[in-house]
Amino acid sequence: MIKRIAIIGSGISSLACAVVLKEAGFDFVIFEKEKNIGGKIKTEYENNFIIEAGPDSYLPEKFWSVQLIKKIGLENEMLCSNDDHKGTYIYSAGKLHPLPEGVMLMVPTMIMPLLKSSLISWAGKIRMGLELFIPPKKDDSDESLAQFVTRRLGRECLEKIAEPLVAGIHTSNPDNMSVKATFPRFIEMEKKYGSLIKGMVKAMKNKPQSQPNTKKMTYFMSLKKGMAELVEGCKKFIGSDKILTDKHVIAINKENGQYKIITEDGFQDRFDYVIIGTPSYITAELIKDMDENLSSMLKNIEWSSSATISLAYKRGDIKVNLKGFGFIVPRIENRRINACTWSSIKWSYRAPDDYILIRSFVGGGHHEELVNEDDEKLISIVREELEEIAKINAKPVFGKVYRWQRGMPKYTVGHLDRIEEIYKSLKTHKGLLLIGCSYKGIGIGDCVKSGFDAANFILEELKAFKD
Ligand SMILES: Cc1cc2nc3c(=O)[nH]c(=O)nc-3n(C[C@H](O)[C@H](O)[C@H](O)COP(=O)(O)OP(=O)(O)OC[C@H]3O[C@@H](n4cnc5c(N)ncnc54)[C@H](O)[C@@H]3O)c2cc1C
Repeated sequence: MIKRIAIIGSGISSLACAVVLKEAGFDFVIFEKEKNIGGKIKTEYENNFIIEAGPDSYLPEKFWSVQLIKKIGLENEMLCSNDDHKGTYIYSAGKLHPLPEGVMLMVPTMIMPLLKSSLISWAGKIRMGLELFIPPKKDDSDESLAQFVTRRLGRECLEKIAEPLVAGIHTSNPDNMSVKATFPRFIEMEKKYGSLIKGMVKAMKNKPQSQPNTKKMTYFMSLKKGMAELVEGCKKFIGSDKILTDKHVIAINKENGQYKIITEDGFQDRFDYVIIGTPSYITAELIKDMDENLSSMLKNIEWSSSATISLAYKRGDIKVNLKGFGFIVPRIENRRINACTWSSIKWSYRAPDDYILIRSFVGGGHHEELVNEDDEKLISIVREELEEIAKINAKPVFGKVYRWQRGMPKYTVGHLDRIEEIYKSLKTHKGLLLIGCSYKGIGIGDCVKSGFDAANFILEELKAFKD
């Protein structure tokens, strides 16, 4: 008997899942509430600029994104960052300071650059070095990123390096971010080597050298036409006929061993497998009549809101030297933007030659209320901040604002235990699978993996069914 498969939402997790199902020759249908697919991945093409509204890159280290790109035949479209300009600056006490060379995420791996750094005080540098001698934590309990970094590397490292670098990626507050859920690698290093510095130095030594015939990769990668190229590539591979847009799912119920999907426009159909790729707070609503307990567990996952503001300038109007790929701003500085990327310096093709594209971030764990300001106000806030922080006083030729209300899940302390409970509860609903950024990783690589895993689980079950 042919099994019917539905995928709810068309974010990158759902598209990755669909690519594997398609590859294996299975039939399925995707329900997407918007006119466009791709969820948080959104690229706009305006006046010969390529403007990213959401993610601007993927990490090849999380190799599932590269696998997806290869499956859909976009390997030649992969784009390295312009690493001749590489570097991160940190705003502290009225100045931009380079992140000391050799600091990986927040762990120093080289002594001299740290000693010479103008960012960290002498007391802070000594405290970071003492990490080598601090015994590992004895028990297995979760702790916040703030507790973890303060315990191992000291308060100054937390406030000036770890918080803006690491919490910025997650757009949440390190005081309640789960270190187990967000940086399990650090916990492993602490356990295995007794020290993050030792673990990181070892990891760098063991880093595989790139082979002569393999594609060159940088730490961050994108695609020549922007991240939407990934979405378009998936769509082409899957086939538009399998994707129903403008189909807002309002409920999923169980009926005679199948799942009934109901959409806002009155459409109803039954499926044997339903893969839900919507954010957890939406999933909670969809399944609430079927399983109240699971729904309330999903509702407990918190989310943060942020906005990205891209400003385009005439190159000649910018009188300062834009160093590195941009800068980040520690929360203790109490500014209204938390990071800024020189998009057209970091990436080729993002702006015509005589222009510069700059993208700033507002909100996240950091003055989240500002996300609700109107476009004009947000642009003027960003301009004021760019003038004070980076001395850019030019008038932009245009600006674009994108808001992501409840756009990023917060993995708060205890997140992994809560996800375990959610998965346990899911076992009572055969054929129902949850994928996406809400659960086991917010980055594109982890989302793709969640989609691959769901598809492979179904393929495995159906293989057993056939046998
Ligand atoms: C500003 C920003 C910058 C980021 N930068 C990066 C980065 O540089 N690199 C990186 O790796 N990650 C980044 N991320 C994170 C990453 O982009 C996301 O975690 C990831 O794209 C989420 O994918 P997803 O599959 O979970 O779902 P989503 O992208 O959230 O897609 C869910 C889909 O479900 C649809 N949907 C919702 N409700 C319904 C319904 N009732 N019926 C039908 N469809 C529905 C939505 O319309 C949407 O299309 C960033 C995120 C943001 C917000």
